Amino acid sequence: MKVRTRIAPSPTGDPHVGTAYVALVNYCLAKQNGGEFVLRIEDTDLTRSTSESERAILDALRWCGLSWDEGPDVGGPHGPYRQSERTAIYRQYVGKLLEDGHAFKCFCTPQRLEEMRVAQRAAGLPPRYDGLCLTYSAGEVARREAAGEPHVVRLKVPDEGVCIVHDARRGPIEFEWKSVDMQVLVKSDGLPTYHLANVVDDHLMEITHVARGEEWVSSAPKHLLLYRYFGWDPPVLIHLPLLRNPDKSKLSKRKNPTGILFYRAFGYVPEALMNFLGLLVNSAHEGEDEMMSLETMVKRFSVEHVPLGGPVFDVEKLDWLNGRYLRERFDAGAFEARVAEWGFAPERLARIAALAQPRVQRLSDLAYLTAFFFAGRVPVRVEDLRSAKLDDLGTRQALHLALVELDALREWNVAGIEGVLTRIASVLGKKVRDIARPFYVAITGSPTSVPLYDAMDLLGREVVRERLRFALELLGTPTKREIEDWKELVV
Ligand code: GLU
Repeated sequence: MKVRTRIAPSPTGDPHVGTAYVALVNYCLAKQNGGEFVLRIEDTDLTRSTSESERAILDALRWCGLSWDEGPDVGGPHGPYRQSERTAIYRQYVGKLLEDGHAFKCFCTPQRLEEMRVAQRAAGLPPRYDGLCLTYSAGEVARREAAGEPHVVRLKVPDEGVCIVHDARRGPIEFEWKSVDMQVLVKSDGLPTYHLANVVDDHLMEITHVARGEEWVSSAPKHLLLYRYFGWDPPVLIHLPLLRNPDKSKLSKRKNPTGILFYRAFGYVPEALMNFLGLLVNSAHEGEDEMMSLETMVKRFSVEHVPLGGPVFDVEKLDWLNGRYLRERFDAGAFEARVAEWGFAPERLARIAALAQPRVQRLSDLAYLTAFFFAGRVPVRVEDLRSAKLDDLGTRQALHLALVELDALREWNVAGIEGVLTRIASVLGKKVRDIARPFYVAITGSPTSVPLYDAMDLLGREVVRERLRFALELLGTPTKREIEDWKELVV
């Protein structure tokens, strides 16, 4: 049997280091067995998926040094590789589940479901669909459908007994069926949910091994049930421990940069980043050099050695490895090529030069005017963040709101960024120029610089987030209470 693995990102945000980590494991699993590695885009959530995010994820994974044998960009015999283009396939399979009585139509309104949840919570019961629509006769279902009542399709789940999930690393994990929800498989708009699409695709794409984050363990019983209903063999499942912040909390961008593009922009090389991620799943053996190429990681990867505790994303270790790569692995020519690729690509230089030109007297002014484009964090003095137009509370609110709203911005461009800052100014009862200073200082290190929105656009969301977060820390990270209170200011 040929080993086939996949990475199945949802294009709903910036490429995450967790995606590179899971992709690396799947890549190693496939390649050490002479198998194939597939990239599938899981964009069933149409409201949150964007083609910008898909493009960024593909670029980021390619930058990481990974390549896939099949995918939306390279094609292959099991396409299409984008779930939004496979709706007809899912419809056919859900039809079969309905026909065989393994799924049912549910007409419950969101309001009824909410009341049910509230009652279950009050009674200390786990949230689970109560099965009302399962009691409807075929005639009743047909009548409601003919009347055009909106409905979803749910998975039938046994009320009794246990489901055993065999995880290749963790061994058997037991779930009581009564704690497993009757999962929605098809939403009221006719589109499939992740669970249905994921199982159908893994089967049709002949995926033999699924390594994914441990947050999916609790979905495994639903998936196994689907495999059973369809009469298919499930793939081997391996749930990987989630990456952690140094304080052991789940790696999150509120505490640590999590974007692949952040590490790229800050000047990490992909070899070091992948080597670092590889050590988190399989640490080096006694006496072995921790510096390892992708080929070496492929050879020595083993499921048995994947740690069960959450590996810490320790940036100091990454710094150490990255420094070694930069100093030891590249000759002068290769190093120069990396420098050029990192910060001096002709297109980027052209934009930076165009922004600086109206503001220079001498070419040497470029150094102080544009240095922030070539920096990671910029030095910021807290007094520079302050201005007569905005007190500390207002400045902290403005920076906090910007962090929240810039994160939610669907398309990262000058118009979008301008829209966010304009809105924040109006919420705070100010003009944009009254709130601009802390942003200039946080982003460029100086109260006067090249146009702010262009600078933010060019730096990218990840770097901007890190600089705003740093400035906000200087003035005081908002407390939980403040975040709660300020929620009403967010759109
Ligand atoms: N689309 C899911 C994600 O974004 C994939 C989960 C899986 O690998 O099954 O993580």
